[in-house]
Amino acid sequence: MKPEQVLREIAAEVEACTRCPLHVGRRRAVPGEGSPTAEIMLVGEAPGFYESVAGRPFVGPAGQLLDRLLEQIGLSRQQVFITNLVKCRPPRNRDPEPEEVAACEPYLDRQIRTIQPKIIVTLGRHSLHKFVPHAKIGQVHGQPIRHQGLLIVPMYHPAAALRAYSMHQALEEDFARLPQFLQQAETLSEPPPDQDIAEDDSDDDSPPAPQQLSLF
Ligand code: SF4
Repeated sequence: MKPEQVLREIAAEVEACTRCPLHVGRRRAVPGEGSPTAEIMLVGEAPGFYESVAGRPFVGPAGQLLDRLLEQIGLSRQQVFITNLVKCRPPRNRDPEPEEVAACEPYLDRQIRTIQPKIIVTLGRHSLHKFVPHAKIGQVHGQPIRHQGLLIVPMYHPAAALRAYSMHQALEEDFARLPQFLQQAETLSEPPPDQDIAEDDSDDDSPPAPQQLSLF
């Protein structure tokens, strides 16, 4: 099946999903949108009010900032894929509960497997913690982290950047380096051979420690 078909199927499942309490009272689910072959995937936390009305990710003020940041590096929304950790809006924009994240995660995992992006940009700490639990966003933002075959670039959430000038500045700087990360991601897409062997032979199913890259 073609990636666009798979993504459409996932979106249809999300729109009818009742796996967690967030489906109660939902206006519209927000599966995500963009290129099925995107090199860059951006993962936020959860839809907000505007997104739950439109059924599209990042369409409010934070989305306008995201559009500007993409434009500054020569990209449009149609060239990347934008989604969230959970696909339905939590009431009063509260943080998603761990059970809600766990219930929704399979959709994001399938989107990642389908698109196979070179880089996943996590927007905000919740999204970062899916890939690199316990990492402090203030310490790791803008630094590529290789984790289980994925290249993660943590960044502040655009909504947070709208509230604090220092975060806004950091987000702009981190975004400006994305083209460079993308270029170098090519050489980092294959795991080193010893990592392959270690994963195949190990009885330990705990995730390997994330490797922060010093190449950038
Ligand atoms: S947040 Fe995710 S798991 Fe929960 S109802 Fe919506 S689509 Fe389903």
